[in-house]
Amino acid sequence: MFELLAWKTVTATTIEWTDSTWNPVAGCTILSPGCTNCYAMGMARRLEAMGQGKYAGTTRVSGGRAKWTGTLVMDEGALDIPRRWSKGRMIFVNSMSDLFHEDVPLDFIARVFTVMRETPQHTYQILTKRAERLAELAPHLPWPDNVWMGVSVESEDYWPRVDHLRRTGGYVKFLSLEPLLGPLKTLDFTDIDWVIAGGESGPNARPMDPAWVRAIRDACVAQRVAFHFKQWGGRNKKAAGRTLDNRTWDQWPAKARVAVVAA
Ligand code: SF4
Repeated sequence: MFELLAWKTVTATTIEWTDSTWNPVAGCTILSPGCTNCYAMGMARRLEAMGQGKYAGTTRVSGGRAKWTGTLVMDEGALDIPRRWSKGRMIFVNSMSDLFHEDVPLDFIARVFTVMRETPQHTYQILTKRAERLAELAPHLPWPDNVWMGVSVESEDYWPRVDHLRRTGGYVKFLSLEPLLGPLKTLDFTDIDWVIAGGESGPNARPMDPAWVRAIRDACVAQRVAFHFKQWGGRNKKAAGRTLDNRTWDQWPAKARVAVVAA
């Protein structure tokens, strides 16, 4: 769902690194072109091989690559994990699935939201491609201020996901324009707090035209929306780096209480 996760939380007196993901659901299915090289599919396969039972049966191997089987696992045992973390963390929810997948019952999603509401020491980030279902279920969920809600948009065809996001109560609403697979023309960030963009990485990475990224950056600057440029991507993402026109972009939403992202 979201490949990188290294977060630096900042309070008035301390700076500490965290890297917290919380996976109450395991497994997913491919939805749109942004899913083609889904990082979580390969990771789930590896975790199953390492004996993590919750990933058993979520993937199969086809053509030498891991593919989702469509089996989703609701991990009851994982629900309470954030309650055991007394110190506030930035937590990415469901890096190994999509919380709003059609096979995740509303009741289970509501329980995830209850845990988030009852652990206000943490800040939660949820990212989905199932934006229609997100908007449909949003009125049935609590939206505490520690929940940041985002949608992934890989090309203009999927821009309508942004309108669905606007209908939710996410305290911070953010866009993950990653992997960016085509130019975005709409670029209206009304009611959006934070935009993250990046290219695809890995052996099968699809190319990203710098003009697409510049258009997003320029729209963010013009509309005063926080912009984070994650990476150019490619086969060697380290070599490609994350500099855009001689500088890095690591802005954070003005509403952010405690967090700044690390590269
Ligand atoms: S929605 Fe996210 S986790 Fe599911 S297949 Fe697509 S990229 Fe992977």
